[in-house]
Amino acid sequence: MSDMKKWEERLSPAVCSIAPSGIRKFFDIAATMDDVISLGVGEPDFVTPWTIRESCVYGLEQGYTSYTSNKGLLELREEIIRHHAEVDGLVGPTPDDVLVTVGVSEALDIAMRSILGPGDEILIPEPCYVSYGACATLAGGVPVAVPSRIENEFRVTVEDLEAHVTDKTKALLIGYPNNPTGAIMPRAQLQQIADFAERHDLIVISDEIYGDLTYGSEPHVSFAALPGMAERTILLNGFSKAYAMTGWRIGYAIANPAIIAAMTKIHQYTILCAPITAQVAAIEALRRGEKYRLKMLAEYDRRRKFIYDGFNKLGLPAFEPKGAFYIFPDIRSTGLSSNDFAEKLLTSEHVALVPGTAFGSCGEGYIRCSYATSLDQIAEALNRIENFLKNHVR
Ligand code: PLP
Repeated sequence: MSDMKKWEERLSPAVCSIAPSGIRKFFDIAATMDDVISLGVGEPDFVTPWTIRESCVYGLEQGYTSYTSNKGLLELREEIIRHHAEVDGLVGPTPDDVLVTVGVSEALDIAMRSILGPGDEILIPEPCYVSYGACATLAGGVPVAVPSRIENEFRVTVEDLEAHVTDKTKALLIGYPNNPTGAIMPRAQLQQIADFAERHDLIVISDEIYGDLTYGSEPHVSFAALPGMAERTILLNGFSKAYAMTGWRIGYAIANPAIIAAMTKIHQYTILCAPITAQVAAIEALRRGEKYRLKMLAEYDRRRKFIYDGFNKLGLPAFEPKGAFYIFPDIRSTGLSSNDFAEKLLTSEHVALVPGTAFGSCGEGYIRCSYATSLDQIAEALNRIENFLKNHVR
């Protein structure tokens, strides 16, 4: 057995300062149990559509097994630009302004490393995806959490952003549709954020990985497509969620030439290029994946309505999620902390979900449930939660 303490003392201070993801802990416990229903994972329960898988198989038959250019296959970058022009009305960026990455995860990491110097602050509205703060810290920057509130359906307000700006603020990171809340940011409010970014001359990282997963009449608005915003925006997106391609590890960034050149430098030394097999599949996703994406979206929408009704009937109110595949019910009436709720529910009823605090301290009093699982499983999970409330809470 090695001496843990001795080796821990020799680790990088930045690594020591970040905590492991609060999501994993529950999966580790769940993995030791039988009969667990998981509303915990942020991963589509669909297999990647066949046409996409087949394009990869065919690509392998054709001998696509080499490196690509650092930025990624030109055909893929062209498709990405076409897609955003068509769907978001994003005009201006060219395939040269695109860097293909190993998921949005890599893009987030190298975006932060490209723009943050020691002590530079980046505003991060919470609750938010678990990686944001950690990536900022690892880049040497200072993540500044800006809480958002249920009263505003967890959309950050400009007043709250203004209250956290200092002379060290260099950037803002927004993620709508949001993980974990399912909140979207309508155009008028997004425009206020754009005005704020302009006023303070901030770089904006906009993680739009759920941009193609919205429901109802309010469409997703891409931050980069707002007037004048493309130049200051690092737009991040990928294939994991909308096309059920988590395991392929493929995403991208679109930004101005100076930022893309900086990100490409890091990418070239650390990754070299995203896997060619995944790049070939991503081209197919953009060319012929649309109808399959819409089918999955319709299924998420059914589940979304069902789970939203279910939680509200159980007396754990949630606002209606308008994007992504998460719901964020309010559990404050139970008197339990988010962590206790998640832990007790898992041990007594074998339902796994994630405490809201995994996504920032303002997530206390909430739980994140993913509806990227079958309706039957969701129905059974709701029954078990009802039992839990009867037996342990009320
Ligand atoms: N951004 C958000 C908001 C996410 O929820 C996730 C994954 O859950 C990621 C980024 C990472 O995605 P990828 O699989 O593209 O690395």
